[in-house]
Amino acid sequence: MNTANSFSQDRCEMVETQIINRGIVDERVIDAFRNVPRHLFVRESDIKNAYSDHPLPIGQGQTISQPYIVALMTSHLDLTGKEKVLEIGTGSGYQTAILARLAKEIHSIERIELLYEFAKNNLREAGIMNVHLHVGDGSLGWSNTAPYDRILITAAAPEISKELLSQLNINGRIVCPLGGRWRQTLEVWVKEKKGIKKEKILPVVFVPLRGAHGWQDL
Ligand code: SAM
Repeated sequence: MNTANSFSQDRCEMVETQIINRGIVDERVIDAFRNVPRHLFVRESDIKNAYSDHPLPIGQGQTISQPYIVALMTSHLDLTGKEKVLEIGTGSGYQTAILARLAKEIHSIERIELLYEFAKNNLREAGIMNVHLHVGDGSLGWSNTAPYDRILITAAAPEISKELLSQLNINGRIVCPLGGRWRQTLEVWVKEKKGIKKEKILPVVFVPLRGAHGWQDL
């Protein structure tokens, strides 16, 4: 049986081998990973694998992403602590909890109500307070509390909708797996006064974004 000590040892190893050794250098990001108890965001049956180097199922055909990918996406958000962030795809709430340590105000949308409940309980258990969870179609963004300084999409998007882009502040950035249904590229978009600056980071595979600007069921 795992104890609090063994989880904390697993977490230290995860941070060293999966995050620092692969080139994540932002100390604030590393500190967030050292402090968020990932084992509180997985299903009971997967708890012994909570700190392993791959995604895990969280029910409803969805996953909690691999720790390194969560760290990489978080680094590219370039957070200073002052930002209002929109996350699309709450899933387990783990990425939300990481964001909560690094930015001022987090709004996270999940389309599956059971996962919204799962994330809400996980975040409560982890003592995370500065997050606002919503149920809805995140492919349209969340206009009620727009504009945002950062937008993170944690599911594979075929496109970034005009609605979503209009909810981003100038100099704001979007981090998103963009491309095909089965393979995508992690991209960073920075909204400048005169247009969008785009950067491709690496190939990734994410579960599909659904909804009005997502993939339809096969
Ligand atoms: N970041 C999450 C974590 O730390 O557990 C993992 C997110 S999982 C890879 C992608 C999530 O996006 C799933 O929970 C899925 O239900 C959700 N999703 C897909 N399409 C969506 C949409 N249009 N609006 C909101 N959530 C959506």
